[in-house]
Amino acid sequence: MEFYILGDMGSGEVSQYIVANALKNHINDKNTFVCGLGDNIYEEGCTSINDKQFITKFEKPYEYISDKTKFYMCIGNHDYGTYYGKGNSLNQIRYGLRSKKQGKKWILPNNYYTFTKKTKDVKIDFFVIDTNLYNQTEKEIKKQVKDITKSINESNADWKIVYGHHTWRSIAGHGNADEILERFLQDIYYKSNFDLYMCGHDHNKQMIHMKMKNEKTLPLIVCGTGGKVYGDKINFKKIKDDSKLIYHSNKLGYGNIKATKHKLKISFLDESNNVEKVFDIQKKNIPYNIKMARHKTSRGSKGRNSRTRTKSRTKSRTKSRTKSRTKSRTKSRTKSRTKSRTRTRSRSRSRTRARGKTRGRRVYRGGDGHEPVQSTCGR
Ligand SMILES: [Zn+2]
Repeated sequence: MEFYILGDMGSGEVSQYIVANALKNHINDKNTFVCGLGDNIYEEGCTSINDKQFITKFEKPYEYISDKTKFYMCIGNHDYGTYYGKGNSLNQIRYGLRSKKQGKKWILPNNYYTFTKKTKDVKIDFFVIDTNLYNQTEKEIKKQVKDITKSINESNADWKIVYGHHTWRSIAGHGNADEILERFLQDIYYKSNFDLYMCGHDHNKQMIHMKMKNEKTLPLIVCGTGGKVYGDKINFKKIKDDSKLIYHSNKLGYGNIKATKHKLKISFLDESNNVEKVFDIQKKNIPYNIKMARHKTSRGSKGRNSRTRTKSRTKSRTKSRTKSRTKSRTKSRTKSRTKSRTRTRSRSRSRTRARGKTRGRRVYRGGDGHEPVQSTCGR
């Protein structure tokens, strides 16, 4: 099976056309498909289903690619067009539903969804997520985690690939996930376990290995080079200690993935179809040194771990209450938060509480936990 990854493409600029042309030239089999990594229509998405930008920033640039080659899109921050609420994203979903009926390329049935690709050699399940958490209510975020993890857990595919728009780890302008996104992605990962996370948002290509708490290494791909020239600063120190940058490139282009049952061969190509770098992800190499006890804890499993969790939860609650009597409310909150974070990482109630508070304030922190650094991609 062979497919492509393309992100941050919807500029309508020459850059998009150049990459579209390279992609068209590379496609041999029109039954291949493209994983769209978001920011489908710059700068503010589309204001209606008949918005001309669907033509100028999608249909025209990719007109020489067959309608049989489907683009499985996800929603980027620019596709929402607003900080809060559904914004313009619904127009892209409506356009996607019409496009599918008409047998056209753009596929986007919902703000998150799954699809399966199968050949006689390999089966891959794709889980497309909506990482624009500031545009979703607490309830919607929880439902997304529940639905996606349920689908991943039910999957019997050889590969389970998750993709969304925002970066989990990155050396570029948007950097690592902020607290809310980190929790969201970790929740999905530790409740289900998948093989690869792909995203756009930063307008470069990166291959990163992230060490997970279950002792597995999760490969992360950033590929946001489909339509805008890179304009951010790079900060190699920005990446967290749990992750290692394997490769990065600022050139326009896209990714190509060839999959077999046991291997994903990932190539980064530039806008002239020069192969920049090739990586192999071996299925057998991904799980190593699995420590079941820690693994179970982080997945929030029931049984012995849940008893431990309840005990420490009660302990922490009691301590926190006692302190709040003697000390100021602010201090108590900070301490109890820090303590509970250190003692048990997977305590969903404490997470929910923390999330609720942050969301309640509606504090916007750049969508990535960092001050935006000459970002060309906004949030
Ligand atoms: Zn973006």
